[in-house]
Amino acid sequence: MQGRMMGFPLLLTHFLERARTLFPSVEIVDGAPFHKYTYKQFHKRTSQLAHALQKLGVRPGDRVASLAWNHHRHLEAYFAVPCMGAVLHTLNLRLHPDELAFIASDAEDAIVLVDRSLLPLWRSFAARVPSVKKVVVMDDGGVNILDDTTDYEALLVGEPETFAWPALDENAAALLCYTSGTTGNPKGVLYSHRSTVLHTLVAAMGDTLGVRSADVVLPVVPMFHANAWGLPQIAIAVGAKLVLPGPKLDPASLVALMEKERVTIAAGVPTIWLGLLALLDANPKAHDLSTVRSMIIGGSAAPASMIDGFARRHNLQVTHAWGMTETNPLGSVAHEKPPLQNAARTEAERLSLRASQGYPVPFVETRHVDESGRALAWDGTSMGELEVRGPWVASSYFNDVGQDRWTADGWFKTGDVVTIDAEGYLRITDRAKDVIKSGGEWISSVALENALMAHPAVLEAAVFAGQHPKWGERPLAAIAFKPGQSASKDELTTHLAAHFPKFWLPDDYVFLPQIPRTSTGKFLKSKLRELYGDLLTKR
Ligand code: AMP
Repeated sequence: MQGRMMGFPLLLTHFLERARTLFPSVEIVDGAPFHKYTYKQFHKRTSQLAHALQKLGVRPGDRVASLAWNHHRHLEAYFAVPCMGAVLHTLNLRLHPDELAFIASDAEDAIVLVDRSLLPLWRSFAARVPSVKKVVVMDDGGVNILDDTTDYEALLVGEPETFAWPALDENAAALLCYTSGTTGNPKGVLYSHRSTVLHTLVAAMGDTLGVRSADVVLPVVPMFHANAWGLPQIAIAVGAKLVLPGPKLDPASLVALMEKERVTIAAGVPTIWLGLLALLDANPKAHDLSTVRSMIIGGSAAPASMIDGFARRHNLQVTHAWGMTETNPLGSVAHEKPPLQNAARTEAERLSLRASQGYPVPFVETRHVDESGRALAWDGTSMGELEVRGPWVASSYFNDVGQDRWTADGWFKTGDVVTIDAEGYLRITDRAKDVIKSGGEWISSVALENALMAHPAVLEAAVFAGQHPKWGERPLAAIAFKPGQSASKDELTTHLAAHFPKFWLPDDYVFLPQIPRTSTGKFLKSKLRELYGDLLTKR
């Protein structure tokens, strides 16, 4: 027997219209350059943008690209483009022009919305993207170049203030986001309205990211990185004030913005928060972040020492989350389940839960498998590749590349090596391609990095595989110290020796001013392997 409930489509349009009717006076603020307006004005301009894009010839399914920082115009595109039935393709402005040329051509972008300050970047690869018919410039204070581009504001002038949004199929594509692809070409992940709406609802839940209308949400994570982890849609859906930082992502600018706008939830990758923690530590009394109730950290492992440092020294709570571009992107969040909170646990055990990658959110299912694809026990020690499935997990890539990432029984192979404990908590020990295999044994680079970053002098640490004539591979550690601090190799090894078997300890260290990063702020271990991987063979 079938239920008798309405087949109401899950469309982002609902969030947009709800924002206009229920939360017209809620604010959306840009940090740099400063700008402030309300949901009512946001709705009006989003409708005008949809009209303007239609006039430019945008049709259902067309790809409209953005090359932009986090700001209100980008947010308008986040809703206008999908709600009119087209697809917003967010280009990552930190990529090399060759990669951007590949990605924009692969997506066959028809129109590009670009920040004025990023026009030189756009120009560096535009000639290689013949599908683009129109370039629309969003004025962010960059140099004014007179040319054949169209001004975003000029496009909106005189357009009607409402739009008759089409009744789309909920499975229609909404947003296109490419993986950062540190090996091979980046691959397109095509989110649907349905996947994004479901993701939004679950992500907002109390035991997920816990976002409410009373919140002030600051996505430091770029809107070109995995949908800014869904925070723009989550804020609009629940009616929360949104603060968009623009290009100023240094710790001092972020702290100032958080204080001024009374931010309650901020989200970003660990490299951002490591810098912020160092700033707070250097001058603990200088800032008032008492409004902040959750700092969401994901994208790579948040070291336990950082989570602990924020909590103990600054009374700031970290919410550690795991996800991927392929999972819209949220997969799991590290909250302490109440029975575990109540159990007689040591502080160290509780911290270990909060520093884990957490347990899966509703509708994301997890398993981990050995090299022959056999499911492993949830015993907290067996290591294997994490596989996931769920309504916001990709079922294939754009243009059908990379089909080997799905199993015959329909799970997505994440490439992350994990353990899963009896409570379902995931712990990432490595990216499969970063695993260090020494004499047949696996060494977890993530565990070593976390311990190194707990050393008081260390700001950043990345552990990577060095080739070794006898053992195949041995761990090497790249270290960036906090300003004015240092430690010797022997001191660092002694610090680690308390926590790890002897054969895990790095064979050598390289000291750098900063660890090289990927376009999404993760440590770029392939670069470290390339530069220093032969350190041990040259001896
Ligand atoms: P991306 O698609 O660029 O967001 O990268 C996804 C990958 O980032 C995952 O497969 C993990 O390897 C890594 N990642 C994301 N969140 C975490 C986390 N909390 N801890 C460790 N690694 C993470």
